[in-house]
Amino acid sequence: MPSIRRFAFCLRVVVAAILIASLAGRGPQEAMAADGRAPNLLFIFADDLTCQALSTYGEARHLLETPNIDRLAREGMRFDRCLVTNSICGPSRATILTGKYSHKNGFYNNANCRFDATQQTFPKLLQGAGWQTALIGKWHLGSNPTGFDHWRILPGQGIYYNPPMITAGGTSVERGYVTDLITDRSIEWLRQRDRDRPFLLMTQHKAPHREWSPAIRHLGWDGDRPHPEPATLFDDFSGRSQAVRDHDMGLDRTFTPLDAKFVTPPGIDGEDLVAWNAHYEPRNEAFRAAAPAGRDLVRWRYQRYMHDYLACVKAIDESVGRLLDELDREGIADETVVVLSSDQGFFLGEHGWFDKRWIFEESVRTPLIVRFPGVTRPGSHCDRIVSLIDFAPTFLAIAGLPVPPDMQGQALQPLLAEHAAADWRKSLYYHYYEFPEPHHVRPHRGVITDRHKLVHYEGDLDEWELLDRKVDPTETRSFHDDPAYADTLRDLRAELDRLQAQVDDLGPVPAEAYGNTPLE
Ligand code: CA
Repeated sequence: MPSIRRFAFCLRVVVAAILIASLAGRGPQEAMAADGRAPNLLFIFADDLTCQALSTYGEARHLLETPNIDRLAREGMRFDRCLVTNSICGPSRATILTGKYSHKNGFYNNANCRFDATQQTFPKLLQGAGWQTALIGKWHLGSNPTGFDHWRILPGQGIYYNPPMITAGGTSVERGYVTDLITDRSIEWLRQRDRDRPFLLMTQHKAPHREWSPAIRHLGWDGDRPHPEPATLFDDFSGRSQAVRDHDMGLDRTFTPLDAKFVTPPGIDGEDLVAWNAHYEPRNEAFRAAAPAGRDLVRWRYQRYMHDYLACVKAIDESVGRLLDELDREGIADETVVVLSSDQGFFLGEHGWFDKRWIFEESVRTPLIVRFPGVTRPGSHCDRIVSLIDFAPTFLAIAGLPVPPDMQGQALQPLLAEHAAADWRKSLYYHYYEFPEPHHVRPHRGVITDRHKLVHYEGDLDEWELLDRKVDPTETRSFHDDPAYADTLRDLRAELDRLQAQVDDLGPVPAEAYGNTPLE
């Protein structure tokens, strides 16, 4: 009987977890769902999905309705300050898998790093404990996935239309829009899984990564209405560091013809291409006739960017809805933990930028919503500082497995259950490396608290910035040289030193960590 096999399996897991936990001197953490069965894990992961684009985060600049993500938040817990440790795609993925900072897992940048697939990851630990493990979508770590019974990944960054996908058996082109395909394949895997064992399914989207190509059905979704501009669209960076002024991610200077949809994106053909041209060509013709310049050009690019980026998010929201519906259809919603997140945030025109990388809030803060039946209170919020380093410990704790001591994060269970967590972290260490290409963001490290950030730009500039989000929420001023901040500066310097030692990032940075061109 499947139910007997499942019960026996769950019993083994519980006994093993209690044994291992007691041997490690830890109490078993919230591991089982409310009805005592081992929960499944559905990890829905987007790429460059930022809080400002989601209605559940209720940002002042209301850009988009995301009803399915709203539903997930209504039924679970929304984390309002989930911060990344190195705001760029591959490094964040490696951090999630390992529960470690870049200098510990060896994946510093997207330029020249290849994930050491022999190292400890949470999927491997779950697989070893009997979980079914599957990964579908974007991987982008160079080496092939390990720790998964089943995987189907996009090569590299992947493409939006008719993407090739790689499996252990080879590569084949799949017809359709990438977000829909990743959802389809995830649902197919769910339907053929072994229903007697718990699963980990990682559904990892490419969207809404650059070049922000929408599903054909979403072209013109906004009826050409103007999207509200951020207050800092024309930030002049006065009073800020040279490091910030030296950026190459501005809508004024960095927007490519592919970003602007003046050239067709890769992979699109047939009726999709006809529909794509029918949407963009008349609007591009109007742009050429008007020939905007200066601020008008930035404004035009911002509107084009918002149409495309937010359309990609609409498809992500639909994917979330389809996956939640599938859990309902399968009758496993009450025994499945659903986690929605992204590898970092993204600038939606703040400071005149797109992209990420910086320690600044729109980049370093990423969405995190957790629906853990029987544990998370529906509609609850958490404003504590959590991070991608916490994901692996959390997933292991959900499975009732011990958290290896070399993982650098903390399981979120006390926060998920709204237990008192007086000893929870009050600051987070940050370290970004990739330089100078592709966006000329100086390597920097810093400390982040509820209110402040202290940032050090490394290399020849050797500059510091002190940000105060309470006084200056848009982060357009540095208070580093303000005498009124002398005590704050001293405390933050001490905290940065303490955290740098705590995460063991005291050694010299290897030259290859910066990418292809070593920093001077
Ligand atoms: Ca990313």
